[in-house]
Amino acid sequence: MSAVNDEKGRTSMPSNTMKAAVLQKPMQITMETRIRPVPTQGEVLVRVRSVGVCGSDVHYYTHGRIGPFVVKSPLVLGHEMSGTIEAVGENVLEARIGERVAVEPGIPDRVCEYCRIGRYNLCANIRFMATPPHDGAFVEYVAVPSDFAFKLPDHVSLDEGALMEPLSVGVYAIHRSGLKAGQSVLIIGAGPIGLVTLQAARAAGAGSIIVLDLDAGRLAIAKKLGATQTVNSSEGLPLEQVHALTDGCGTDIVFDAAGSPKTASLAVHLVKRGGRIVMIGFALEDNFPYPLVSAMAKEVDIVTVFRYANVYPSAIGLVAEGRIDLKSLVTHRFPLEQAERALQLSDRREDGVVKAMVQV
Ligand SMILES: [Zn+2]
Repeated sequence: MSAVNDEKGRTSMPSNTMKAAVLQKPMQITMETRIRPVPTQGEVLVRVRSVGVCGSDVHYYTHGRIGPFVVKSPLVLGHEMSGTIEAVGENVLEARIGERVAVEPGIPDRVCEYCRIGRYNLCANIRFMATPPHDGAFVEYVAVPSDFAFKLPDHVSLDEGALMEPLSVGVYAIHRSGLKAGQSVLIIGAGPIGLVTLQAARAAGAGSIIVLDLDAGRLAIAKKLGATQTVNSSEGLPLEQVHALTDGCGTDIVFDAAGSPKTASLAVHLVKRGGRIVMIGFALEDNFPYPLVSAMAKEVDIVTVFRYANVYPSAIGLVAEGRIDLKSLVTHRFPLEQAERALQLSDRREDGVVKAMVQV
Protein backbone atom coordinates (compact mmCIF):
# COMPACT_ATOMS: atom_id res chain seq x y z
CA MET A 1 0.00 0.00 0.00
CA SER A 2 1.13 3.55 -0.59
CA ALA A 3 0.68 6.77 1.37
CA VAL A 4 -2.91 7.88 1.89
CA ASN A 5 -4.56 11.20 2.59
CA ASP A 6 -7.04 11.41 5.41
CA GLU A 7 -10.07 13.71 5.42
CA LYS A 8 -8.07 16.71 6.61
CA GLY A 9 -5.54 16.18 3.84
CA ARG A 10 -2.81 14.92 6.18
CA THR A 11 -0.58 12.33 4.60
CA SER A 12 0.39 9.32 6.66
CA MET A 13 1.97 5.97 5.98
CA PRO A 14 -0.51 3.28 6.89
CA SER A 15 0.70 1.01 9.67
CA ASN A 16 -0.58 -2.51 9.93
CA THR A 17 -2.30 -2.15 13.29
CA MET A 18 -5.51 -0.55 14.49
CA LYS A 19 -7.46 0.17 17.66
CA ALA A 20 -10.44 -1.99 18.61
CA ALA A 21 -12.96 -1.80 21.46
CA VAL A 22 -13.39 -5.44 22.50
CA LEU A 23 -16.06 -7.05 24.67
CA GLN A 24 -14.02 -9.35 26.93
CA LYS A 25 -16.97 -10.62 28.96
CA PRO A 26 -20.35 -9.17 29.93
CA MET A 27 -19.99 -5.60 31.27
CA GLN A 28 -16.32 -5.31 30.29
CA ILE A 29 -14.90 -3.64 27.20
CA THR A 30 -11.20 -2.89 26.77
CA MET A 31 -9.20 -1.21 24.03
CA GLU A 32 -6.88 -3.52 22.10
CA THR A 33 -4.42 -3.17 19.28
CA ARG A 34 -5.20 -5.54 16.45
CA ILE A 35 -3.83 -6.34 13.03
CA ARG A 36 -5.46 -4.21 10.38
CA PRO A 37 -7.35 -6.30 7.81
CA VAL A 38 -6.11 -6.44 4.23
CA PRO A 39 -8.78 -6.42 1.51
CA THR A 40 -8.75 -9.65 -0.48
CA GLN A 41 -10.22 -10.24 -3.93
CA GLY A 42 -13.49 -8.37 -4.35
CA GLU A 43 -13.16 -6.53 -1.04
CA VAL A 44 -12.74 -2.92 0.01
CA LEU A 45 -10.94 -1.70 3.12
CA VAL A 46 -13.20 0.74 4.95
CA ARG A 47 -11.89 3.27 7.46
CA VAL A 48 -14.74 3.15 9.99
CA ARG A 49 -16.16 6.57 10.82
CA SER A 50 -19.56 6.24 12.47
CA VAL A 51 -21.21 3.30 14.23
CA GLY A 52 -24.68 3.27 15.79
CA VAL A 53 -25.27 1.48 19.09
CA CYS A 54 -28.01 -1.11 18.59
CA GLY A 55 -30.15 -2.90 21.15
CA SER A 56 -28.41 -6.15 20.22
CA ASP A 57 -24.99 -4.63 21.05
CA VAL A 58 -26.38 -3.55 24.40
CA HIS A 59 -27.74 -7.02 24.99
CA TYR A 60 -24.46 -8.79 24.22
CA TYR A 61 -22.71 -6.26 26.48
CA THR A 62 -25.03 -6.81 29.44
CA HIS A 63 -25.99 -10.50 29.05
CA GLY A 64 -23.34 -12.03 26.78
CA ARG A 65 -25.96 -13.74 24.63
CA ILE A 66 -29.10 -13.32 22.54
CA GLY A 67 -31.05 -16.56 22.33
CA PRO A 68 -28.84 -19.12 20.61
CA PHE A 69 -26.02 -16.62 19.94
CA VAL A 70 -23.56 -16.76 22.84
CA VAL A 71 -20.38 -14.70 23.27
CA LYS A 72 -17.81 -17.42 23.99
CA SER A 73 -14.64 -15.46 23.16
CA PRO A 74 -13.76 -11.74 22.98
CA LEU A 75 -16.04 -9.98 20.49
CA VAL A 76 -16.01 -6.60 18.75
CA LEU A 77 -19.52 -5.12 18.86
CA GLY A 78 -21.16 -2.65 16.45
CA HIS A 79 -22.84 -3.38 13.11
CA GLU A 80 -24.52 -0.10 12.07
CA MET A 81 -21.61 1.45 10.25
CA SER A 82 -20.32 3.85 7.66
CA GLY A 83 -16.86 4.98 6.64
CA THR A 84 -14.57 5.78 3.76
CA ILE A 85 -12.88 3.36 1.38
CA GLU A 86 -9.12 3.52 1.84
CA ALA A 87 -7.92 0.59 -0.24
CA VAL A 88 -9.32 -2.03 -2.60
CA GLY A 89 -8.49 -5.66 -3.24
CA GLU A 90 -8.13 -7.37 -6.59
CA ASN A 91 -11.00 -6.99 -9.05
CA VAL A 92 -12.34 -3.80 -7.44
CA LEU A 93 -12.11 -0.49 -9.28
CA GLU A 94 -9.44 1.75 -7.76
CA ALA A 95 -11.81 4.64 -8.41
CA ARG A 96 -13.73 3.54 -5.33
CA ILE A 97 -10.88 4.70 -3.06
CA GLY A 98 -12.11 7.77 -1.20
CA GLU A 99 -15.82 6.90 -1.49
CA ARG A 100 -17.99 7.48 1.56
CA VAL A 101 -20.01 4.33 2.10
CA ALA A 102 -22.70 2.70 4.23
CA VAL A 103 -21.74 -0.92 4.92
CA GLU A 104 -24.36 -3.66 4.96
CA PRO A 105 -23.09 -5.82 7.82
CA GLY A 106 -24.35 -9.32 6.94
CA ILE A 107 -22.34 -11.20 4.30
CA PRO A 108 -24.13 -14.31 3.00
CA ASP A 109 -22.48 -17.25 1.22
CA ARG A 110 -24.21 -16.30 -2.08
CA VAL A 111 -24.68 -19.92 -3.17
CA CYS A 112 -27.36 -21.54 -0.98
CA GLU A 113 -31.03 -21.85 -1.96
CA TYR A 114 -31.95 -18.67 -0.02
CA CYS A 115 -29.17 -16.64 -1.54
CA ARG A 116 -30.19 -17.88 -4.98
CA ILE A 117 -33.76 -16.63 -4.53
CA GLY A 118 -32.65 -13.30 -3.05
CA ARG A 119 -33.68 -14.02 0.54
CA TYR A 120 -30.09 -13.92 1.69
CA ASN A 121 -31.07 -12.75 5.19
CA LEU A 122 -32.06 -16.40 5.72
CA CYS A 123 -28.67 -17.76 4.58
CA ALA A 124 -27.49 -20.25 7.21
CA ASN A 125 -23.88 -19.30 6.52
CA ILE A 126 -24.31 -15.53 6.82
CA ARG A 127 -21.48 -13.74 8.61
CA PHE A 128 -23.16 -10.89 10.43
CA MET A 129 -21.00 -8.29 12.16
CA ALA A 130 -21.08 -8.35 15.96
CA THR A 131 -22.98 -11.63 16.05
CA PRO A 132 -20.76 -14.29 17.68
CA PRO A 133 -18.28 -15.39 16.50
CA HIS A 134 -18.00 -12.56 13.93
CA ASP A 135 -16.40 -9.28 14.96
CA GLY A 136 -18.14 -5.97 14.38
CA ALA A 137 -17.32 -2.35 13.69
CA PHE A 138 -16.05 -0.79 16.93
CA VAL A 139 -12.65 -0.76 15.21
CA GLU A 140 -10.73 1.53 12.90
CA TYR A 141 -10.86 -0.68 9.80
CA VAL A 142 -12.99 -3.44 8.32
CA ALA A 143 -12.62 -5.30 5.01
CA VAL A 144 -15.95 -6.08 3.35
CA PRO A 145 -17.12 -7.27 -0.07
CA SER A 146 -17.22 -4.33 -2.45
CA ASP A 147 -20.92 -4.84 -3.25
CA PHE A 148 -21.85 -4.57 0.44
CA ALA A 149 -20.31 -1.07 0.65
CA PHE A 150 -22.91 1.35 -0.77
CA LYS A 151 -21.83 4.79 -1.94
CA LEU A 152 -23.44 7.67 -0.04
CA PRO A 153 -24.52 10.82 -1.88
CA ASP A 154 -22.37 13.82 -0.90
CA HIS A 155 -25.15 15.47 1.11
CA VAL A 156 -25.85 12.38 3.23
CA SER A 157 -23.74 12.36 6.41
CA LEU A 158 -21.71 9.46 7.77
CA ASP A 159 -24.00 9.25 10.84
CA GLU A 160 -26.95 8.88 8.48
CA GLY A 161 -24.91 6.33 6.54
CA ALA A 162 -24.49 4.21 9.67
CA LEU A 163 -28.23 4.42 10.38
CA MET A 164 -29.10 2.97 6.97
CA GLU A 165 -28.85 -0.32 8.87
CA PRO A 166 -31.80 0.15 11.26
CA LEU A 167 -33.66 1.98 8.48
CA SER A 168 -33.24 -1.12 6.32
CA VAL A 169 -35.13 -3.09 8.97
CA GLY A 170 -37.98 -0.57 8.77
CA VAL A 171 -38.07 -0.52 4.97
CA TYR A 172 -38.00 -4.31 4.81
CA ALA A 173 -40.79 -4.49 7.41
CA ILE A 174 -42.91 -2.28 5.14
CA HIS A 175 -42.22 -4.64 2.22
CA ARG A 176 -43.26 -7.60 4.37
CA SER A 177 -46.42 -5.77 5.47
CA GLY A 178 -47.76 -5.31 1.95
CA LEU A 179 -48.88 -1.82 3.02
CA LYS A 180 -51.13 -0.11 0.49
CA ALA A 181 -51.74 3.63 0.13
CA GLY A 182 -54.09 4.98 2.75
CA GLN A 183 -54.06 1.98 5.07
CA SER A 184 -54.05 2.68 8.80
CA VAL A 185 -51.02 1.69 10.81
CA LEU A 186 -50.19 1.18 14.48
CA ILE A 187 -46.56 0.99 15.56
CA ILE A 188 -45.84 -0.45 19.00
CA GLY A 189 -42.55 0.88 20.34
CA ALA A 190 -40.96 4.26 19.57
CA GLY A 191 -37.31 3.23 19.84
CA PRO A 192 -35.04 3.61 16.80
CA ILE A 193 -36.68 0.71 14.92
CA GLY A 194 -40.21 1.96 15.65
CA LEU A 195 -39.22 5.47 14.53
CA VAL A 196 -37.73 4.33 11.22
CA THR A 197 -40.68 2.01 10.59
CA LEU A 198 -42.98 4.96 11.19
CA GLN A 199 -41.14 7.03 8.60
CA ALA A 200 -40.95 4.18 6.09
CA ALA A 201 -44.72 3.66 6.50
CA ARG A 202 -45.31 7.33 5.85
CA ALA A 203 -43.05 7.27 2.79
CA ALA A 204 -44.99 4.23 1.52
CA GLY A 205 -48.28 6.12 1.71
CA ALA A 206 -49.84 5.00 4.98
CA GLY A 207 -52.97 6.84 6.10
CA SER A 208 -53.19 7.38 9.83
CA ILE A 209 -50.15 6.25 11.80
CA ILE A 210 -50.57 5.73 15.55
CA VAL A 211 -47.43 5.21 17.64
CA LEU A 212 -47.63 3.61 21.07
CA ASP A 213 -44.92 3.76 23.73
CA LEU A 214 -44.61 4.54 27.42
CA ASP A 215 -41.91 7.20 27.04
CA ALA A 216 -43.27 10.71 26.49
CA GLY A 217 -39.96 11.94 25.06
CA ARG A 218 -39.87 9.25 22.40
CA LEU A 219 -43.53 9.86 21.55
CA ALA A 220 -42.72 13.55 21.02
CA ILE A 221 -40.07 12.52 18.49
CA ALA A 222 -42.59 10.18 16.82
CA LYS A 223 -44.98 13.10 16.46
CA LYS A 224 -42.26 15.23 14.91
CA LEU A 225 -41.39 12.42 12.48
CA GLY A 226 -44.94 12.05 11.18
CA ALA A 227 -47.09 10.06 13.61
CA THR A 228 -50.67 11.25 13.21
CA GLN A 229 -51.50 10.24 16.79
CA THR A 230 -49.49 9.00 19.74
CA VAL A 231 -50.65 6.84 22.63
CA ASN A 232 -48.82 6.79 25.95
CA SER A 233 -49.38 3.38 27.49
CA SER A 234 -48.36 4.71 30.91
CA GLU A 235 -51.42 7.00 30.87
CA GLY A 236 -54.15 4.39 30.47
CA LEU A 237 -54.93 1.04 28.91
CA PRO A 238 -53.45 0.95 25.39
CA LEU A 239 -56.41 -1.13 24.15
CA GLU A 240 -58.93 1.52 25.20
CA GLN A 241 -56.82 4.39 23.94
CA VAL A 242 -56.24 2.87 20.49
CA HIS A 243 -59.87 1.77 20.16
CA ALA A 244 -60.93 5.34 21.00
CA LEU A 245 -58.87 6.53 18.02
CA THR A 246 -60.08 3.85 15.60
CA ASP A 247 -63.85 3.58 16.26
CA GLY A 248 -63.15 0.41 18.20
CA CYS A 249 -61.81 -1.38 15.09
CA GLY A 250 -58.02 -1.19 15.39
CA THR A 251 -55.72 -0.56 12.43
CA ASP A 252 -55.14 -2.38 9.12
CA ILE A 253 -51.54 -3.15 10.01
CA VAL A 254 -49.81 -3.41 13.39
CA PHE A 255 -46.02 -3.37 13.57
CA ASP A 256 -44.63 -4.74 16.83
CA ALA A 257 -41.26 -3.01 17.10
CA ALA A 258 -41.06 -3.63 20.85
CA GLY A 259 -40.98 -7.42 20.91
CA SER A 260 -42.33 -8.71 24.20
CA PRO A 261 -45.01 -11.23 25.21
CA LYS A 262 -47.17 -8.28 26.23
CA THR A 263 -46.87 -6.37 22.95
CA ALA A 264 -47.28 -9.54 20.88
CA SER A 265 -50.67 -10.10 22.56
CA LEU A 266 -51.59 -6.46 22.32
CA ALA A 267 -51.00 -6.52 18.56
CA VAL A 268 -53.65 -9.22 18.17
CA HIS A 269 -56.21 -7.13 20.05
CA LEU A 270 -55.34 -3.88 18.23
CA VAL A 271 -55.27 -5.12 14.64
CA LYS A 272 -58.41 -4.82 12.51
CA ARG A 273 -60.33 -7.96 11.55
CA GLY A 274 -58.61 -9.33 8.45
CA GLY A 275 -55.57 -7.16 9.12
CA ARG A 276 -51.90 -7.97 9.31
CA ILE A 277 -49.41 -8.10 12.18
CA VAL A 278 -45.73 -7.61 11.42
CA MET A 279 -43.44 -8.86 14.20
CA ILE A 280 -40.15 -6.95 14.11
CA GLY A 281 -38.81 -6.88 17.67
CA PHE A 282 -37.44 -10.08 19.18
CA ALA A 283 -38.83 -11.13 22.56
CA LEU A 284 -36.30 -12.51 25.01
CA GLU A 285 -38.55 -15.48 25.76
CA ASP A 286 -38.96 -18.15 23.09
CA ASN A 287 -42.24 -19.53 24.48
CA PHE A 288 -45.05 -17.47 25.96
CA PRO A 289 -48.86 -17.45 26.03
CA TYR A 290 -50.26 -15.98 22.79
CA PRO A 291 -53.93 -15.24 21.89
CA LEU A 292 -53.80 -17.34 18.74
CA VAL A 293 -57.48 -18.19 18.77
CA SER A 294 -58.38 -14.50 18.91
CA ALA A 295 -56.04 -13.95 15.96
CA MET A 296 -57.71 -16.79 14.04
CA ALA A 297 -61.18 -15.46 14.81
CA LYS A 298 -60.11 -12.19 13.16
CA GLU A 299 -58.38 -14.01 10.28
CA VAL A 300 -55.21 -12.05 10.97
CA ASP A 301 -52.09 -12.50 8.85
CA ILE A 302 -49.01 -12.72 11.05
CA VAL A 303 -45.66 -12.16 9.36
CA THR A 304 -42.21 -12.03 10.89
CA VAL A 305 -39.15 -10.00 10.00
CA PHE A 306 -35.55 -11.17 10.32
CA ARG A 307 -33.11 -8.38 9.48
CA TYR A 308 -33.57 -7.45 5.77
CA ALA A 309 -32.46 -8.22 2.25
CA ASN A 310 -31.98 -6.05 -0.85
CA VAL A 311 -33.11 -2.79 0.75
CA TYR A 312 -29.94 -0.72 1.34
CA PRO A 313 -30.28 1.12 -2.00
CA SER A 314 -33.93 2.03 -1.22
CA ALA A 315 -33.01 3.17 2.29
CA ILE A 316 -30.23 5.40 0.94
CA GLY A 317 -32.59 6.77 -1.72
CA LEU A 318 -35.25 7.67 0.83
CA VAL A 319 -32.76 9.57 2.97
CA ALA A 320 -31.10 11.23 -0.03
CA GLU A 321 -34.51 12.49 -1.20
CA GLY A 322 -35.31 13.90 2.23
CA ARG A 323 -38.24 11.51 2.71
CA ILE A 324 -36.77 10.09 5.92
CA ASP A 325 -35.06 11.93 8.78
CA LEU A 326 -32.35 9.92 10.51
CA LYS A 327 -30.57 12.90 12.06
CA SER A 328 -33.35 13.39 14.61
CA LEU A 329 -32.66 9.92 16.03
CA VAL A 330 -29.08 10.76 17.02
CA THR A 331 -29.03 12.02 20.59
CA HIS A 332 -25.48 11.21 21.74
CA ARG A 333 -21.97 10.79 20.30
CA PHE A 334 -18.92 9.13 21.86
CA PRO A 335 -15.36 8.46 20.65
CA LEU A 336 -14.32 4.81 20.13
CA GLU A 337 -12.47 4.83 23.45
CA GLN A 338 -15.83 5.49 25.18
CA ALA A 339 -17.81 2.79 23.36
CA GLU A 340 -18.56 1.19 26.73
CA ARG A 341 -20.09 4.43 27.99
CA ALA A 342 -22.31 4.53 24.89
CA LEU A 343 -23.51 0.99 25.63
CA GLN A 344 -24.18 1.76 29.29
CA LEU A 345 -26.10 4.92 28.48
CA SER A 346 -28.21 3.04 25.92
CA ASP A 347 -28.81 0.19 28.35
CA ARG A 348 -30.02 2.46 31.13
CA ARG A 349 -31.89 4.75 28.73
CA GLU A 350 -30.31 7.69 30.47
CA ASP A 351 -30.52 11.29 29.40
CA GLY A 352 -33.33 10.77 26.88
CA VAL A 353 -31.11 8.61 24.66
CA VAL A 354 -32.64 7.39 21.41
CA LYS A 355 -29.57 6.56 19.31
CA ALA A 356 -26.01 6.83 20.57
CA MET A 357 -23.28 6.93 17.93
CA VAL A 358 -19.65 5.87 18.31
CA GLN A 359 -17.35 7.97 16.17
CA VAL A 360 -14.08 6.39 15.22
ZN1 LIG B 1 -26.66 -18.46 1.42
